[in-house]
Amino acid sequence: MPVERSLLMIPGPVEISPAVLAATSIPPPSHLAADFMERFGRALERMRAVWRADEAAQPYILAGSGTLAMDMAVANVVDPGERVVVVNTGYFSDRVAEMLRRRGADVVEVGAAPGSVPALSDVAAALPGARALFATHVDTSTGVRVDARALAGAAREAGALSVFDGVCATAAERFEMGAWGADVYLTASQKAIGLPAGLALLVASERALAARDALSTPPPLSVDWHAWTPIMRAYAERRPSYFATPATTLVPALDVGLGELLAEGMEAVFARHQRVGDGIRAAWATLGLELLPESGWAANALSAVRYPAGVGPELLGEISARGVICAGGLHPALKTAYFRVGHMGYATTRPEWLARAVRAVSEALAACGHRADVEGAVAALERSLEG
Ligand SMILES: *Cc1c(COP(=O)(O)O)cnc(C)c1O
Repeated sequence: MPVERSLLMIPGPVEISPAVLAATSIPPPSHLAADFMERFGRALERMRAVWRADEAAQPYILAGSGTLAMDMAVANVVDPGERVVVVNTGYFSDRVAEMLRRRGADVVEVGAAPGSVPALSDVAAALPGARALFATHVDTSTGVRVDARALAGAAREAGALSVFDGVCATAAERFEMGAWGADVYLTASQKAIGLPAGLALLVASERALAARDALSTPPPLSVDWHAWTPIMRAYAERRPSYFATPATTLVPALDVGLGELLAEGMEAVFARHQRVGDGIRAAWATLGLELLPESGWAANALSAVRYPAGVGPELLGEISARGVICAGGLHPALKTAYFRVGHMGYATTRPEWLARAVRAVSEALAACGHRADVEGAVAALERSLEG
């Protein structure tokens, strides 16, 4: 008898839609095939729409991880010696700060305790004279979402560029690149965008592109916008071009995935993640669980949940024994104090999967000795989703 596959509810990679799965199941296309160029060009147009970016903004699709997209952003907007401000909300903010130090930047970190967000006034006070502000839209290690709109506004006011790591946020949390005046918004395919891992996705504003033009120290060739922009423009015009081979199996799937998001409409996509985030949080509350993020800062894309008294990382094994995969803690200071459940992308269209995840966590808590109202938690989720 076939064993039912475990449900993947970690903060990436995530479950993908049947249409995206089907799109990846093709013989490998040439990067110069007419149909591939059409798919690539359309995916670029669709990225601009999903990112809510201006016509002048330049999307990039590269084979790679979110980390590659982060390095690309760092190396194209910052010169060695320039001052940058990092809004530090956890593990991935630490990572971009390290990348910026390696680039030779003068890095000023404005941080907060894990689960919290630094005050906007503290960020604004650090900005004068900075080339750019870097922030993690949703820090996957803490489940905290920053106020990207306010940060982008503060950066504009100070004459600094703003760069947002949206790897755990893009297409789950509201982001309006054009209207908010943000300069770089980047992600990876395996998170809320809803694809398998393998694509680094980034959109740069006109101002960000001008910053690359003005650099005195060029970026590594493999991530240089000067190398990639002509390739993206060629695909936009459905013309053959080559710099480094794109992920030809994943780009058509990206076209399909972005098409699904746009057919639903970004407002509806953001509302769906809000509804699911509210429902999942209602279930955690019923179980007596506390979130790591302070009130008001919890992201919709995932939950970072503190282990209740007497329960620890052994909970994860109990959850996976019930056919659901969740993730442990990631923040170095708190690793064994909390666990994480992803609720982004296609899984948020499947209420029965969400209920299965809540049931698995609830039963696992009970197995670990925590008093858990399993049926109450599932009912709280379902009531909230219907409400
Ligand atoms: C996952 C993640 C990354 C890193 O992406 P990779 O594809 O693993 O390199 C960066 N930033 C955030 C916020 C993430 O969630």
